[in-house]
Amino acid sequence: MTDPDPLADPLTGPLPAVPVTFRQPGPPQPGQPGQPYPGYPQPGPPQQGPPPQGHWYPVPVHPQQPVPMPAPHIPAQHVPAQPAPAQQYLVHQHQGQLPVPQRRPAVPVEHRPAPVPTDSFEPVHPVLVSEAEPVRVSVDNNRCHIYGICQQEAPEVFRISEGGSLHYTRSVPAEFAAQARQAVRCCPMQAIAIRGGDAPGGGSAVGRGAARPLRSGTAARSSRRRIVVAGGGLAGLSAATRLRDRGFDGELVLVGEESRRPYSRPPLSKQYLAGVLDDEDLTFRADETLDAHWLLDTRLIGLDVERRTLELRGGERLPYDGLVLATGVDAKRLPEAPVFSDRVRTIRTVADAEAVRRAMHAARAHHVVILGGGFVGCELACTAREHGMDVTLVVHSAPLLRRVLGKQIGTVVGDIQRRAGVDVRLGTEITDWQDHGDVLRLRLDDGSVLDCDFVVLGLGSEPRTEWLRGSGLDVSDGVLCDPTCHAVDQWGRAHPNIVAAGDVARWPNARFDSQPRRVEHLIHAVEMGQHAADSLLRGPDRAARFTPVPRFWSEQHGTRIQAVGSPALGKEVEVVEGSLRSERFVARYTRATDYGPQTVAVVAFDMPLELLAYRDEIGRTRPHTRTPNRRRRR
Ligand SMILES: Cc1cc2nc3c(=O)[nH]c(=O)nc-3n(C[C@H](O)[C@H](O)[C@H](O)COP(=O)(O)OP(=O)(O)OC[C@H]3O[C@@H](n4cnc5c(N)ncnc54)[C@H](O)[C@@H]3O)c2cc1C
Ligand code: SF4
Repeated sequence: MTDPDPLADPLTGPLPAVPVTFRQPGPPQPGQPGQPYPGYPQPGPPQQGPPPQGHWYPVPVHPQQPVPMPAPHIPAQHVPAQPAPAQQYLVHQHQGQLPVPQRRPAVPVEHRPAPVPTDSFEPVHPVLVSEAEPVRVSVDNNRCHIYGICQQEAPEVFRISEGGSLHYTRSVPAEFAAQARQAVRCCPMQAIAIRGGDAPGGGSAVGRGAARPLRSGTAARSSRRRIVVAGGGLAGLSAATRLRDRGFDGELVLVGEESRRPYSRPPLSKQYLAGVLDDEDLTFRADETLDAHWLLDTRLIGLDVERRTLELRGGERLPYDGLVLATGVDAKRLPEAPVFSDRVRTIRTVADAEAVRRAMHAARAHHVVILGGGFVGCELACTAREHGMDVTLVVHSAPLLRRVLGKQIGTVVGDIQRRAGVDVRLGTEITDWQDHGDVLRLRLDDGSVLDCDFVVLGLGSEPRTEWLRGSGLDVSDGVLCDPTCHAVDQWGRAHPNIVAAGDVARWPNARFDSQPRRVEHLIHAVEMGQHAADSLLRGPDRAARFTPVPRFWSEQHGTRIQAVGSPALGKEVEVVEGSLRSERFVARYTRATDYGPQTVAVVAFDMPLELLAYRDEIGRTRPHTRTPNRRRRR
């Protein structure tokens, strides 16, 4: 009896053989590393030879001894007799003298942002794996914070009433079960539970079989493939779950630096800091059923794309057939801030948030300074103020959230913060830091001095790509990807067996233009993880472009902010419902394109239902209205 095709797509029928296995080397094929992605720099000299022949390394399970890597064997037909300049590279590589390219090729014109014609993109909602059985849904009211995300993901199941309470269908028919499950993944409070149903990956959603043991040694020579997910966060979890849902039954290995399984980060600056949730409440429930091998507390320090091997801290090596890069970002730090002071904090992990929580609850703490006027800074200000602290928000630009929401709407957020008692200092910077032991003294560039108990930096993020330097991938600001989420190298070549997802990935969203950008939101991590997994299984030729409508939310002193699209791309803002004065409104963000005005985002303050009506507009262009012909006929 033969095994069923592990990559058969339940939605669209069998997929071609997974493009991640190159164990039988032959002459380079189109679609293998080296295939250029149109719109990116044209490929330079071939950087990679074919993979080592017949080598298959046992999986080192931490803390096993390092596995020595055999020298790569490059078949003779790939070593040119008369090396031309472009081919010399390969010969050097064979001799172990890997030349580092000095300059990247010039970026061609197509790489620059260009308008995209109307409707040249996928539907607003991601394609979910359909389910055959009804499911039962329940919501934990103690956790639910009425963010309304579930309503956006599964409007047939969840509904927020005019009065602001959540209503939902307990028995969900099979046709809406996949939507309901997506709402579970996207609920930041992990408030929704699902029972029953037939999870597409095989096995019931609750309590799939125990994880298959990871094969190693001789067993690893079986024909099964191994996909490694680098980064144990939400995007990695989402990709892994999707691989199983799509029927991938090879080995799945998740490598994460933190010692715990993926958890929801949004509550770190809100409910976790306030003490409403503790760390167990944050863990995503989806992974309870995931048939995968977890290498936690394990840091990745290198990637060899030629040998398809990851290097772990301690020197161990982990080979892969397919790779999902999902190592997220870290909080930005200030070089001039006292690095080792307990009084200067950032917030990215549970451990960071725990430290800030302890500082906030310390008996004598009464004043916190928050640096940075983005969402994390503003939310921290809300939580600290609710906790009864004096809060000073120091922001070098003006107004708050300007980069994300623009000037007009950012001003409204500033008003909300000031009314709640936050001391907002805009357009200013800290010029001097002095740790006096019992107090931290800060001098601002306007001459004022602030004495505080501690400072939290909310200055944005830096992609976690330090471990990918030297891999040949383009990691200039996150992992550069083509529109299908395949990673692109410094020579503009898309790698068919490497995809990236989540905060770390930078890719062009054709819904808006061809400029690659990173997006750092929870729902995005879920959707990009899913899409990247699909793309890995399908390969670059059959993969679809990833064209989501970004969606995010925030809460500022009780005002719920919801956004769909990319407000930062908007050039004009128009209030289409409510009014700025009442702080209850829907604002539409548009910009001009060659095809007509395009709606790039809609933002709602305390109007979740009204927002839904505008969502499908995002990315569409409206034709230009004709300018009247003023020339008179003679
Ligand atoms: C305080 C805070 C509040 C937020 N609030 C909101 C919000 O209100 N709304 C919203 O939409 N989004 C919010 N976000 C953003 C959201 O949480 C992220 O977009 C999401 O977590 C991204 O998931 P990810 O998997 O891409 O990255 P991550 O969650 O960062 O996961 C990446 C993982 O990879 C690991 N890793 C990194 N490097 C290595 C390595 N070399 N080896 C091994 N492992 C490695 C990291 O330790 C981490 O566990 C917030 C984030 C924070 C920090
Ligand atoms: S998404 Fe929001 S409204 Fe829905 S269950 Fe979760 S917290 Fe509640």
